[in-house]
Amino acid sequence: SDHCLDYPTSPDSMEWKNMYPGFYDKERDEMTSQVEIADIGCGYGGLMIKLAPEFPQQLILGMEIRVQVTQYVEDRIIALREQNQHTNGYQNISVLRGNAMKFIPNFFHKGQLQKMFFCFPDPHFKQRKHKARIITNTLLSEYAYVLREGGIVYTITDVEDLHLWMVKHLEAHPMFERLSKEWEQQDKCVEIMYNATEEGQKVTRNKGSKFVACFKRLPTPEDT
Ligand code: SAM
Repeated sequence: SDHCLDYPTSPDSMEWKNMYPGFYDKERDEMTSQVEIADIGCGYGGLMIKLAPEFPQQLILGMEIRVQVTQYVEDRIIALREQNQHTNGYQNISVLRGNAMKFIPNFFHKGQLQKMFFCFPDPHFKQRKHKARIITNTLLSEYAYVLREGGIVYTITDVEDLHLWMVKHLEAHPMFERLSKEWEQQDKCVEIMYNATEEGQKVTRNKGSKFVACFKRLPTPEDT
């Protein structure tokens, strides 16, 4: 349950410097980079760890609701930073405990994010539980708000019904357009997402299917 979690009142109240000390300029008292990549429901953090060296100058944030899992990822990142001190590796990833279905615009400025990942989200199979799914019309409008024009929503799941649900909602949303299979094939993040997450590796071991769909954040229509 998340009823006793603290949420930032605005993105400016986030203490990013504690989470990414390697990207904090002490003299100027400001961050030298901002979070541009978010892994929603990051689980054990495998995706971030593979993305980290691919985007060394961009900050990557995992959001995870389970306390112990978040703690595990935190410890994992601390260990990786220690082992890679000589190259300053893994300074660009961090994890935050929270309910990603709540107050996303309190964490990020409008247009701040370049990529959002939804990897193997909980399927919530029962009809009456569908409103608990992480992709809904209301939440998509929030994701569109924090994503920049041309930003990408990545989705992957082994549950076909959930895949069809996510595709249906994203395609119906005016701010998103599905990207082609050709686009997916040339995008390195799709390949990483397909193989890097712990849940995805479990699906591979069990010889399950993986369904991928990616969407581009469209330009905001001009206000007239
Ligand atoms: N993305 C990871 C992977 O592919 O290995 C984890 C997948 S796991 C099936 C789903 C994860 O989403 C769980 O770790 C769960 O705790 C987390 N989660 C579910 N609802 C969430 C929410 N509202 N906010 C943040 N995390 C959530």
